[in-house]
Amino acid sequence: MNPKQSKTDCVFCKIASGEIPSKILYRDEDVFVFPDINPLTPVHLLVVSMKHIPSLAYMADADTPLVGKMVAVANKVAREQGLADKGYRLTINSGADAGQLVPHLHMHLMGGRRLRWEH
Ligand code: 5GP
Ligand code: ZN
Repeated sequence: MNPKQSKTDCVFCKIASGEIPSKILYRDEDVFVFPDINPLTPVHLLVVSMKHIPSLAYMADADTPLVGKMVAVANKVAREQGLADKGYRLTINSGADAGQLVPHLHMHLMGGRRLRWEH
């Protein structure tokens, strides 16, 4: 992942603008949600900031409410997906060691089966 990648080359900015079509499940002025193209679990959605922030490591203090809102939106969508009582996982990969591939802040919302915890 290249944190210096420009917004114009960013796949998630292109999905936000509609240049790359995707099935948007939720959208507001700050956050949008769509299915991961390579789902690892029965429900695997991406909760993405409208603002291009390369990773969690690059968020400013002023972005704290935005990250809180991403969690709130993830919870709302998880409930809509029937996961609220079954359980689900929110994951943010930040940087190479975490396996971050797309340098635009996003949260994975995963569930729909019992998840493993192996590292
Ligand atoms: P990361 O590894 O950066 O945390 O996760 C990036 C995720 O974005 C991966 O799970 C990958 O499958 C997904 N992804 C990458 N490109 C696209 C795309 O063009 N469309 C969608 N829907 N997902 C994508
Ligand atoms: Zn972007």
